[in-house]
This record gives sequence, structure tokens and C-alpha cells, in this order.
Amino acid sequence: MNFDRINLSRRHLLKAVGAGVVASATSACSSSQPQPPAGIIGADGKRVLPWKNWSGNQSCQPTERLVPRNEEQLIDAIKAANSTVRCVGSGHSFSGLVPTNQTLLSLARLRGVENVDREALEADVWAGTRLSMLGRELWKHDMSTINMSDIDSQSFAGAIATSTHGTGKHLGSISSHLRGLRMVKANGEVIECSPDNNSDLFYASSNHIGAMGVITKARLKTDPAYYLKETSWMMSEEEGLARAAELRDKHRHYEMFALPHSDYMLGVAIDKVAAADIPANPPVPSGDAYEAFRMMSNLIDYMPFMRSWLVNFGASGVEPETRYGKSHEIFGNLRDILFNEMEYVVPADAGPACLKEVLDTIKQQNIPVIFPIEARYVAADEVWLSPFYRRDGFAISCHNFHDKDYKAYFAAIEPIFWKYDGRPHWGKIHTLGPEQLAGKYERFKDFVELRREMDPDGRFINEHLSRVLGV
Ligand SMILES: Cc1cc2nc3c(=O)[nH]c(=O)nc-3n(C[C@H](O)[C@H](O)[C@H](O)COP(=O)(O)OP(=O)(O)OC[C@H]3O[C@@H](n4cnc5c(N)ncnc54)[C@H](O)[C@@H]3O)c2cc1C
Repeated sequence: MNFDRINLSRRHLLKAVGAGVVASATSACSSSQPQPPAGIIGADGKRVLPWKNWSGNQSCQPTERLVPRNEEQLIDAIKAANSTVRCVGSGHSFSGLVPTNQTLLSLARLRGVENVDREALEADVWAGTRLSMLGRELWKHDMSTINMSDIDSQSFAGAIATSTHGTGKHLGSISSHLRGLRMVKANGEVIECSPDNNSDLFYASSNHIGAMGVITKARLKTDPAYYLKETSWMMSEEEGLARAAELRDKHRHYEMFALPHSDYMLGVAIDKVAAADIPANPPVPSGDAYEAFRMMSNLIDYMPFMRSWLVNFGASGVEPETRYGKSHEIFGNLRDILFNEMEYVVPADAGPACLKEVLDTIKQQNIPVIFPIEARYVAADEVWLSPFYRRDGFAISCHNFHDKDYKAYFAAIEPIFWKYDGRPHWGKIHTLGPEQLAGKYERFKDFVELRREMDPDGRFINEHLSRVLGV
């Protein structure tokens, strides 16, 4: 989610007060030097460091961590490992997709873009390519990704593992823009698939959750390079919910950030713009609003009775902002304060009603959270485990700061998503098991069956996958 967009003009006051509160709260604590992670000594006598994800809610201690230089080394590594093998992309999933106490494999050295076809607007992308690098590399060939998530730190194979998406009525997830996949099976065999060749495997593996094989590269459909103009403005919650569909239809990308315990909602609209229409010296947003939210949250911890007043006070001072840039510059935002997240995708038309129920529940139950809730529209696709499978979706993302309890908050909200027939994002926190998932994902059982054929011994299965897939 994009906090740079939420530019609280009253942040200086809040920061000053919040900083004072934090300083007084921590002054009694003794200081201690952070200790380096211990790790273990691996079979080759070298230290193997523990792993944890971006927010720190997932961790493990592998017996080996491998970073092959090419596909041949990767095949050898898979054949040689006589234990569970899990891949890690950039560790940006909140669910337990990555952890293993055995072999952890990173494809970070298999990166870059090749076989670019300007006519067909397609290119091969290596699995370990970060989305940030993807945007820059495509731009060199006068191409842009069709859409993008709101950060660009993920690896390409990691992003497609969970149907990572941005927003836009007519725009699907990154997985829906694939035209072919290449992977290494658990037995070391290399296999390729596309919509015309081995199509079941293609539509199953386009949201693979690391369970089908190790993806080495994929063919991606792109757009001609384009520039974007982003506008954000605060409006009342009532107006935001009432105009959601209208603004979705009007803009290439439209999303909302609802502020819990307030009467406000931020709208963010992004459209293509001609390079000639970008002003010579466009205004640069200040970008420290995220920190202001953290300060506000700290302040509220000490004055919970002021929560609603403070959030409304901050929100009412937000000024509209506009940004311009190359497509990948506008899509990719920096997240330097950590959080945990749950996301469900409900049918597009039911989205605003579901969001309202979430916001009302937070108020009624006085849930101690002020972290904005992000809501995005995403187009339907054909990918088996995609939350957008044959259904236009409205993705609602709830967050809390990484060092605050998210469990009680998510437990109170998750049943609302079930009521609206929501499907969970595979990379984010949810509590569903195979029976419920099979009821939400039409092709779930087909995925489980095909996975068993691809990896009969379950070498790519970790504890989390075992639980959600019922393996
Ligand atoms: C700050 C933040 C912002 C986010 N914003 C968005 C957003 O805007 N939209 C959205 O939809 N999601 C978003 N996410 C979620 C994120 O995009 C997904 O969880 C994504 O899957 C993470 O990619 P990764 O490269 O970090 O993969 P990891 O989390 O490291 O791994 C994800 C899965 O991919 C598998 N994997 C990785 N590489 C391979 C490979 N080569 N072969 C086989 N399997 C592999 C792993 O085993 C694992 O199962 C966000 C997450 C964070 C932390």
C-alpha cells in the first residue's frame, strides 16, 4: 500500500507529540546491542544463517541455503537435495509459503530479461528478476509492464506465485499476463507450458505457490512504454463508497485507502499521460506520511479515547497531490515501516458494501487499529488458484504495524470476508484449510491433483502447504 500518497499536513504536530510519548516510554528501558543471528554449521562446515521474511512474522533455520548460478546448477541442486526444497523470492509473503528447516533455494542469480519481441510486446523474464529491475529493463526496450503491485521489491517468480496484483477495472494480476512458463520438476526434469502447450499445467502454475516446480523463467506480455499521472485526494467515507464504481470506470487504475475510526477515505487515480503533458517541474510529494501514521499510532496507544478525534484531525488536513513519472516509477513505492497484512478478494460489485462492513465493525468493536485499509479492483482471469478466477474482484487489504498484535484484528474481520464469498490472497495471512479453500477456488482440487503428479513425494511441500493443500 502507498503511504507516500497519504500526506498528512498536520504530521509535524503529531510527530512532535508522538516522539515525546515514545521517548518517555522508552527512557526506563536498558539499551542492548543487537546480536548477530547465530545460524548453524552446515554439512560443508560453513555457517547457515536463519531466514525471516520482510515483516518478521515467518522464520526458519534451513540446513542449507543454495543460490545456483544457472539452470544446470539448479537441476543438480534439486537432484542432490534428499530433503524438502523450498524456494524463496524476496521474502515478501506474510503467509508461511517459504519456511523450511531443510533446503532453501534462491534464484536471485537467475535474473534479467531476454528474447524481447517488440512487435508481439513479449519478453522472457528470469525467475529471480526483481520487479524493480523488470520495469527498468523493459523501459530500455520501449516497453512497460501492463500493471504492477504497489511495491516492486518482489522477485518475478515470487510475484506470480500468489497472483500479485495492482489495481484497474480492466487489468488482471501479473499472473494473468504470462504467455509461457519454464520450470524444473522435483525429479530434475525441465518442463515448459503455455496456453497452447500443456495448458492445464500452465493455468495451474501461473499461481503456483511454490508447489509445482522451481520456475526458472516465464514469457510475459507487456505494453508499449507509457508514462503515468497519479492524483490522490481525501473525501468523506460516504462519498468514497458511493463513487467507488464510477471512479473505477473512469480511470485506468483506481484504489481507495479507508482510514479506520475516521470519516475519511483517500482516493488514488492513475492514468496514462503523454510525455509532452508532464509539467517541466512537477511537484514532489513530501513522502513522510507513513512515519506520521506511526507517530499517531504511538500517541493513540497512550490516549486511546482520542483515537477517532486524532485520525479525523489528521485526515481532514490532507491536501490533494499529483505525481508524474515512467510507469514503473509511479507503481513502485517504498515501504520502510514494517506491517503484517490480510487480504481477501470479494466479487467486484459487492466490494464497497463489504468494505463498509469492515469499517463499521472496527468502529463498533473499538478495534485498536488506525492502519489504512487498501481497496483495489482487479479483472478476472483463467488462472486456477487466482483470487480473480473467472470473477472481477475487489481486493481488501487490512494491515497492522509489524510490532502490534494483528491476530485479534484479523480474527474479527475475516468472517466478514467469508460472508461476501471472499477468496484469500495466498501470500497474506488467512486461517483457511483445504475444505474451505476448495469451496472458494473452483479448480482447487484439480491443482492438488496436478501437484501430486508433478511432485509425488512432496519434496516441495512445507508445513504451511501441507496444511492449506491438505497434503
Ligand atoms: C510491503 C508489501 C507490499 C505488497 N504489495 C502487494 C501488492 O500490491 N499486491 C499484491 O498482490 N501483493 C502484494 N504483496 C504480497 C507479495 O507481492 C506476494 O506475497 C509475493 O508472492 C511475494 O513475492 P516474493 O518474491 O517476495 O516471494 P516470496 O514471498 O519469497 O515467495 C513466495 C512464494 O513463491 C515461491 N517461489 C519464489 N521463487 C520461486 C521459484 N523460482 N520457483 C518456484 N517457487 C518460487 C516461494 O517458495 C513461495 O511459495 C506485498 C507484500 C509486501 C511485504
